[in-house]
Amino acid sequence: MGLAGFGTAADGVLGMHCGLPPSPTRYTHPVPTTDWPARARDLAAAFAARAERHDREGSFPFENFADLREAGFYGLTVPRRFGGAEASLGTYLAVLEQIARADGSTALAFMMHLKTFGQERESPSYPPAWFERMCVGAVQHGQLVNTVATEEGLGSPAGGGLPETIARPAGAGWRLSGRKTFTTLAPLLHHFVVLARVPTPDGQPSEVGNFMVLRTDPGLRIDETWDSLSMRSTGSHDVVFEDISLPPDRLLNRRALGQADARGGAGMAWFALGLCATTIGVASAARDYAVAFARERTPNSNRTIKEYPGVRTRIARIDLLIHRSRALMDDACRAWEAPPGSAPQPIDRVAMAKVDTLNNCIEAVDLAMRVVGGVSLQKARPIERYYRDVRAALHNPLLEDRALEQLARSALDEPYEPPKAAE
Ligand SMILES: Cc1cc2nc3c(=O)[nH]c(=O)nc-3n(C[C@H](O)[C@H](O)[C@H](O)COP(=O)(O)OP(=O)(O)OC[C@H]3O[C@@H](n4cnc5c(N)ncnc54)[C@H](O)[C@@H]3O)c2cc1C
Repeated sequence: MGLAGFGTAADGVLGMHCGLPPSPTRYTHPVPTTDWPARARDLAAAFAARAERHDREGSFPFENFADLREAGFYGLTVPRRFGGAEASLGTYLAVLEQIARADGSTALAFMMHLKTFGQERESPSYPPAWFERMCVGAVQHGQLVNTVATEEGLGSPAGGGLPETIARPAGAGWRLSGRKTFTTLAPLLHHFVVLARVPTPDGQPSEVGNFMVLRTDPGLRIDETWDSLSMRSTGSHDVVFEDISLPPDRLLNRRALGQADARGGAGMAWFALGLCATTIGVASAARDYAVAFARERTPNSNRTIKEYPGVRTRIARIDLLIHRSRALMDDACRAWEAPPGSAPQPIDRVAMAKVDTLNNCIEAVDLAMRVVGGVSLQKARPIERYYRDVRAALHNPLLEDRALEQLARSALDEPYEPPKAAE
């Protein structure tokens, strides 16, 4: 299985975009030489060695994040004007896949930070002064950021419910109280972008806002609750806000409940495709493990198991499923990066990639388990971790039912142009 071939000249991944051969004439400006996916692959060798212990303990891989910071990855998607690398969507995906091949948890957790800058570059939703602080914080001070939205009672915020976390006006500022679940990166986060309800007068529609909470704010507490089946090292703990006092400028944005948030499609593209890349990375690791196993495993029968037709068919199917997933992700990435209006329905292509990649990759890892056989269940082997980790992104946006509804809406409810008769 080849490496993911994403990236543009601006990222220094010459000619790898969507698998095309190098084409130097496409580029009219000096090309930085950083090959981010290759650097990620080199760095991630150490992550693979640490993954089993962190998974078993459910501990956070601080060493991996120190390595990523040291190698300049914290600024990968940060705009150049703030000292970042301003990597394209494609390069971001290729980097995530490389990290996920070694450790799915590190990739998923790091994605939460990286996607923030990609989304904001395309669809600004935060006040410029805060965005600059987040960018400079990432590049110069190693500060990580994530959105903190989910709650036990709320479920997925994408469902449009009203959070219980509340920001009450207090003087010129706010007082924030509540508890959030699934706060990925909690052990290291500096910038917490917190979704909260904002009280409105009786009879007025409910409103929600995003508030900036800093790790150093008195009243912020992390409850180490994360103990899950998969992605055990993401540190996705509960965060509690105990009547935190916030100055007025901490309100980043505000909207009526049910109104789309300002990140719009960019939010979905960077998030959902990042999940695809992470999932493909995990499935590829399982595939490589199964192939190596099938080539070497020779039970007492004197035949290497790769000679059995069932094993051969399963390996071929795994490659087909992973290749199809990468092709769909690549297609959605190209559609998203194309000039506006030139690719039909790019957000639908993102939805298709998310749904199909996840299902394909889950099936691919299941097949890899069957190739390896009974020992695939042993905790000592990484493949059982891949089997658990590959499922996690099912429960992150864009959720399958909503993605399918989006596709159905495009086909059934939007303005319709009848197909032209074939000539
Ligand atoms: C590894 C991991 C990391 C995460 N990191 C973060 C993070 O950093 N920050 C954060 O805020 N959140 C995070 N989350 C939370 C995630 O985004 C979801 O909010 C969470 O998984 C709950 O989603 P849910 O759909 O299962 O919940 P629920 O909304 O309770 O849904 C339960 C079920 O009902 C279905 N359902 C609910 N409403 C509808 C509807 N309107 N239409 C159709 N079906 C519906 C859902 O599809 C699902 O099957 C993380 C989750 C995971 C697994």
